[in-house]
Amino acid sequence: MNIILFGPPGAGKGTQAALLAERTGLPKVATGELLRAAVRNGTPLGQQARRFIDKGLLVPDDIIVDLLRELVASPDSARGLIMDGFPRTLRQAEAVDESLARRGRRVDGLLYLKVPEDELVRRLLGRAKEEGRSDDTREAISQRLAVYRAETEPLIEHYRELSVATDIDGLGSVREVAMRVEDALGL
Ligand code: AMP
Repeated sequence: MNIILFGPPGAGKGTQAALLAERTGLPKVATGELLRAAVRNGTPLGQQARRFIDKGLLVPDDIIVDLLRELVASPDSARGLIMDGFPRTLRQAEAVDESLARRGRRVDGLLYLKVPEDELVRRLLGRAKEEGRSDDTREAISQRLAVYRAETEPLIEHYRELSVATDIDGLGSVREVAMRVEDALGL
């Protein structure tokens, strides 16, 4: 089963992806986490990605698409995977779709976590205090939300056309949202 957790920064994708991974036994893969690790380790990918991440911009597709192909084609993902934070552009979606198709697979479900903007900002500023991420400053947060609206949100149409997208109310407790996610997937 290949599932995309979709939605704006602060919608709860990472939290729900982790719970879903536990529930299904499938690996959860988060490109944001992989990129932050690459930055910490000073790898060539990290060196390229850093300035985009810190500004709240997307890392360009030319840099990211090969990484996505590797993740989807990895033996760890043979039974499927939970995608957290990707695809984020149409080109990325096409790369994911193609890599899955090569295995005779497809995206089985996209869960669109919907949370109002003021709540997103509140959550992200709260997380900034706890985690100290370099891109959780007020400036980077508003940039990330703007980038999401302009570049990532339109992608939903691609998956609506494929009839795999389900809207999920992202407000409420972690447990409540997790139950909505499981219901949507028929688990
Ligand atoms: P996230 O942890 O998902 O909020 O991602 C943090 C940052 O990493 C984003 O603001 C982007 O700069 C970068 N990033 C993560 N995933 C992607 C992706 N699929 N495409 C481009 N940039 C990404």
